[in-house]
Amino acid sequence: MHAEILVLPGDGIGPEVTAAAVQVLRAVAQRYGHTFAFTQGLIGGAAIDATGDALPAQTLAAARGADAVLLGAVGGPKWSDPGARVRPEQGLLAIRKALGLYANLRPVRPHAAALGASPIKPHLLQGVDLMVVRELTGGIYFGEKRREADLARDVCTYSVAEVERVVRRAGALARARSGRLTSVDKANVLETSRLWREVATRVVRDEFPDVRLEHQLVDSMAMHLIARPREYDVIVTENMFGDILTDEASMLAGSLGLLPSASLGEGTVGLYEPIHGSAPDIAGRGIANPYATILSAALLLRHSLRLEDEARCVETAVSQALDAGALTADLAHDRPPLGTTAAAHAVLEQLQ
Ligand code: ATP
Ligand code: MG
Repeated sequence: MHAEILVLPGDGIGPEVTAAAVQVLRAVAQRYGHTFAFTQGLIGGAAIDATGDALPAQTLAAARGADAVLLGAVGGPKWSDPGARVRPEQGLLAIRKALGLYANLRPVRPHAAALGASPIKPHLLQGVDLMVVRELTGGIYFGEKRREADLARDVCTYSVAEVERVVRRAGALARARSGRLTSVDKANVLETSRLWREVATRVVRDEFPDVRLEHQLVDSMAMHLIARPREYDVIVTENMFGDILTDEASMLAGSLGLLPSASLGEGTVGLYEPIHGSAPDIAGRGIANPYATILSAALLLRHSLRLEDEARCVETAVSQALDAGALTADLAHDRPPLGTTAAAHAVLEQLQ
């Protein structure tokens, strides 16, 4: 098949990890006889520097015309001055919103070779296989923001329709997996969470009678995620809770550098990015872990291009590279670590 892939490297380690993932996609195209055409665009701090805008109109137009978007990360100290007029993160929020990407899928499957890097006891991690579905275009991140001298306000809003569509996605995923779905909210305190719980209950009852729904409060979920992660399968939650819980869940996998994500909407164009940020502390040193972005490319193959065999092939290659000891600094501990390029080559070798 032919596919147009827009690559948005962004800032910090973004260019390093997306370059690695593009290499892998090129190798997959060659192996399976596809033609993938890659174009690059600007987003985040890089876009602010070049155009004054965190999401230039040209980038958004290119994204709308592409089959899929592969993104690195945005942000960094250079653009985080409290008085800044535009922030890199606005570019990311804006592209998610403009493309209607309301469901952010974050699979968490600890790999044996990375268990040593996790602060959690290995016996708790055996068999963990989670899919966190984070609502991505609503809630407090998108609500009205106001700042006065001695007070600040962030408004959290959810509509019935916004909850319905993301719960539907999660319900479909749960049905295709083990049939268990956990909805996370703070319904004992927040009105938006009471709405969330009510809608989730109705959607699952009416449309997914075969799915077993459980509700968890976000604070106890934070605890259970570490204490008994094996007991969960698909977890669906609102924007901010999902952001926080998935950084926590990354510790189940051993490193932020291992977790991919897919952001999907009603249309076919999806956006794929690692869950980690731009990691300014290690940017430009060639030591960032590229696996999260390579695994995001696998999700791109699966969800946007519908190339399941190719997606699995990439996931297997990453697994085998990890098994073979191709560990970056965030995972290596007692052995000499591989750099970003060497880790990508370890995956390419397995793809051969
Ligand atoms: P954001 O707000 O964009 O989510 P963040 O504040 O969560 O960003 P990250 O940029 O994700 O922060 O970095 C958190 C820590 O994890 C840093 O110490 C960073 O170096 C490390 N880290 C993140 N991604 C990687 C990676 N791919 N490889 C190695 N270390 C990473
Ligand atoms: Mg983060």
